[in-house]
Amino acid sequence: MQKSWAARTDTGRRRSQNEDSFCADLDLGLFVVADGMGGHVGGEVASELAVTEIQTVIEFTATLGPQDTWPVPFDAKVGTDGNRLRASFTMANRRIARKIEKAEKLRGMATTAVAALVKGSKAALAHVGDSRAYLYRAGQLTRLTSDHSWVEEQVRGGMLTEAAAREHPRRNIVTRALFGASDLDVEVSELELETGDRLLLCSDGLSTVLQDDEIGQVLSAPGDLQVVCDELVNRANAAGGPDNVTTLLVDVATE
Ligand code: CA
Repeated sequence: MQKSWAARTDTGRRRSQNEDSFCADLDLGLFVVADGMGGHVGGEVASELAVTEIQTVIEFTATLGPQDTWPVPFDAKVGTDGNRLRASFTMANRRIARKIEKAEKLRGMATTAVAALVKGSKAALAHVGDSRAYLYRAGQLTRLTSDHSWVEEQVRGGMLTEAAAREHPRRNIVTRALFGASDLDVEVSELELETGDRLLLCSDGLSTVLQDDEIGQVLSAPGDLQVVCDELVNRANAAGGPDNVTTLLVDVATE
């Protein structure tokens, strides 16, 4: 299956700096979006560090045997690529911990991350925090990740509606992230891709502003992926652009 991608990251209308980072590496089949938080420089440092480390570990583990995800134990419940992603998140989290130890001013920095590792018709996904992965297939948009956030927990528990969660003052509080803490819980899943699928990774600067049906509507436009990414960001900004926004779109092309 042929893949192509496009991305756009933008500071938005209200923030002075962009703390989101992303990477796309077609050779590795790796796509990552990270949304940093904390302090004046911390958020930017954390998201960039995470993206770089995830990429480095995925590159390194590609040279190892299928069950060798050193230094993280292999989990037989998911395949090799899911394990490689989990290992890369764990290593990124350790890098953040070491960086904080060395630089007092970075204390409190953290980042979310969502990553897809795509090979042939298979995709492994991993995430912590409220950056999301969506699948657009045959006219339908499906959310592939559940946010690790305070409001999402309230929605799941029936205490908040989706609409109320969108407006809630605590909507930015994440319950999992790469904080540098030792108890990181990475959520990993796997997916079979079909020709014509579009995989969208994004930061919450998109998903808290645009509802899923509007995102689906933009993704339904055929053709240029960059135009689609730009349109998503433009719509988030037109609606006030309250946060940094990143969209990374992967297309599984018809051969
Ligand atoms: Ca954000």
